[in-house]
This record gives sequence, structure tokens and C-alpha cells, in this order.
Amino acid sequence: MTVTAHRPGSDAHPGRKSGPAALTFLGGAGTVTGSKTLLSVGAQEVLVDCGLFQGGHDLRRRNWDDLGVAPGRIGAVLLTHAHLDHCGYVPKLCSDGFLGPVLATRATARLVEVVLLDSAHLLEEEAQHAAAHGWSKHSLPRPLYTSEDAQNAVGRLTAVPFDTSVEVAAAIRGTWRPAGHILGSATVHVEIEGGASILFSGDLGRQGHPLLKAPAAPPAADVVVVESTYGQRKHQRRDPARLADAINRTVARGGSVLIPAFAVDRTEVLLCALKELVEGGAIPRVPVFVDSPMALRALGIYREALDRQDPDVRSLADDPFDLTHLQALTSVEQSMTVNSPRYPSIVISASGMASGGRVLHHLKHQLPDPRNTVVLVGFQAAGTRGRALQEGARLVKIHGHYVPVRAEVVDLEEYSVHADADDVLAWLGSMPAAPSSCFVTHGEPDASAALRERIEAELGWLAVVPRSGERVLCT
Ligand SMILES: [Zn+2]
Repeated sequence: MTVTAHRPGSDAHPGRKSGPAALTFLGGAGTVTGSKTLLSVGAQEVLVDCGLFQGGHDLRRRNWDDLGVAPGRIGAVLLTHAHLDHCGYVPKLCSDGFLGPVLATRATARLVEVVLLDSAHLLEEEAQHAAAHGWSKHSLPRPLYTSEDAQNAVGRLTAVPFDTSVEVAAAIRGTWRPAGHILGSATVHVEIEGGASILFSGDLGRQGHPLLKAPAAPPAADVVVVESTYGQRKHQRRDPARLADAINRTVARGGSVLIPAFAVDRTEVLLCALKELVEGGAIPRVPVFVDSPMALRALGIYREALDRQDPDVRSLADDPFDLTHLQALTSVEQSMTVNSPRYPSIVISASGMASGGRVLHHLKHQLPDPRNTVVLVGFQAAGTRGRALQEGARLVKIHGHYVPVRAEVVDLEEYSVHADADDVLAWLGSMPAAPSSCFVTHGEPDASAALRERIEAELGWLAVVPRSGERVLCT
């Protein structure tokens, strides 16, 4: 990947009046995935986030739908962070004719490369597997995009610095500020010369992330687009004893702990937590396997950012990861050795919602054994196997077969790196002035509706949950 530093634009358009600005919610409306908001200013189009729809069949099928705007008309893509539901559609956009740059912070650009190449690989593998085993409804299943498409998309990544206003298109400037959600994550404040300004929250983090600083205070803006993943929830306070108890119970039974984890960030947060528990004597030192090549590459990028002291990372006295007892599994053969571990161990494997990836093979082997434990450590979207396990399913379907769930399932949502409703309201409430309108996106319908009501009741703002495909003017 070549990440070129973006040169802040010159003031080539002094005093220029732009056309009216409009937002169209192309994804992430009424769902937590597929984040895509189109900003139209006169004849110019800029896409903020370009995520993949994930979850059940109906959602994933939407990745094949017409986008609603010709990709060739979009001048630039601005990414808030590297999660697949915010960047995973970029290769498809590029192969469908988008020719502009994809702007993101330096660490996001590095992580996006890892995430997109992994995504393409999974899509290719799934299409091949479906063709070979006949479980697809299509006669000739093909991937949404290929590794070559992903590689082309990576070539478009252009790094932007934090806290600096850069020209993203003619007379449109953007400023990325730390969002504290995952490494490199940012809120994006878009300012239109002679027009409105719009603040996109992206995904907001929480106070107390072991590696990242808290989200930066929001600037004033005319319009806010805010996420609502946990719009109706309050996180439990993170209590390390709950994770320690789950591990100790499992080890006492002679079982293994399987943690489906988002490869980017959750793996790092868990490794920090495990190091603390081992050093504090709360759990025995059992082998920890990280079975995700993507997670291992992301771990390297986190370590670089910590060494470099990027603007969004904390300064830590000690190495937060205990790498001496971590066993990295890169090949498929190595991965298969932990399908049925012969001694108690902890396996961290992607994907976090068990919607794909190597964790499916581990689940197939480990769920039927009551000695084992599956620990869920983050948001589980509707329609995913993670959600089914969270809701107590006794059977889950994996690769066309039903698998009985006899293992213990422990839900530790407190390891989420998403702000809860109180956090989001506090962040919005710290804006220097009320915006004229606030659009609540990136949530399941109940969560978005609950957050919208609270914004209206507690902040007195005009707040709306936009429909998918809806277009609104920013004035
Ligand atoms: Zn995210």
C-alpha cells in the first residue's frame, strides 16, 4: 500500500459560494451495518464511510443492490475508521467506477488495508465453498469483490493528519478528530465554504479504553449525524472478575475458552485484560492462541502507533501486551490444532459476531462440549450466530449443518468499545452550540428511536431517525 500524505488544499476558492448541501442516507439507516452517507453540494458528491452490510441474508444481499448514485460521480470517500461496516464496500465502489481518493487517518489507512484484503479473501473463500458444497442458492456463486479489487482500493487510500482541516473536494474541507473507538478512528467535521458544516460521529468510543484516549470534544456544527449502536443501553461497568470467573470455571472443568472477537481492537483490549488478570494472579497462565492472521497484523499496527505515540493513543509506561505467552496461529493447519484443544486454553478468533471466519470451525468443534465456554465480548447484530448464542439458542447452523450448543455461553458486552447512550448524550451535550438538526443513524430501529427521544427530551434538539435512502437538506 502506498499511503501518501495528503496536502492540505490551498485556498483556491476564496469566498466561493457553494450550492445547497444535502445528505442521503445510503446505508447504516435502520441497521448497524453498511454505513454510507452521501453529501451532495451542488454537482459535487462526497461519500462519508463506505461500509458493507453484514448480518443475515437480507442485509448481505443489499451489498449487491444499486447504490443509488453512480460511483463515477463521487469525488472522494471520507472514512471514519477501519471496521468493515464502515470501509468494506470501498473495493466494490472502485470496481463499479469510483475514481477518487479514499481519505482516512494514517492508522485507519494501515488497518483498512488489512481489513479489505481479509474481507476479499473471505468473500472469495465463501463463494468457492458454496460452489463446492452446493449450499448457495446461486448456480455460480461469485464474490462481491476479489483480492485484486481490494488491492486496487488500497491504492486509493490517502492519509490525512488528525486535527487538521484539509480540502477533500473543491470548497469542501474535512477535519478528523480522535473518536476513541478503535485505533485511528475519528469523527469527521465537514465544512462547506459559504455553506453549512456537518459533524459525522462515526463510531464513538468510551472513556477508559486501555490503549486509546477518550473521544475528542465535538466542534460546533449546523448538522450532526450520530451513531446509535447502543442507543437504548447502558454498559455495565467493566468488571475484570466476570472474565476471570468464566475462565476459571472453564479451566476447572478441563475445557477451553473460545472468544469470537473483532480482529481490530477487541483482540488488543482482550490481550490487555488477560495480561492484567494473569499478573494479578486472578487466572492461571494458560496458553492464549490468537487465531486470526488479520488480528495479528492489526496488533502489529497498534504496536507501531503506540511506539510512535499517535495523537489518539495513551502514553503507557509498560508494554500492554504479554507476547511471551501468546501463540500466534497463522496457517490453516495451525488453526485446526486448536479446534479441539487437549488442555485448557484461551482461543481468540474472528469474526466477532461469528458471521464468518475461522471462529466458525472452532465453534463447530467446541459448542457441543459442555466443558467449554464461549465468551461474547461485543455487539452482536440481529441475524448473526453471535446474536443467536447471546439469546440462548440451543442449535446454530454452521456451513449448512446444525450444531448443538452445550458449551456455556457468557455475554460480556462490557468489553464493547462503543459508547453507550449516556456516553453519546454527554458527547453531544458538550457541543458549543445546538445544531439545527441531528440525524440518528447506525442502530437497530429500537436503539435509534430510543436515542432520538432522549436527544429531543434531554437536549431539546430536533432529532430524526432517517429512513434508508432518504435525502435531507442541510441549512
Ligand atoms: Zn466501528
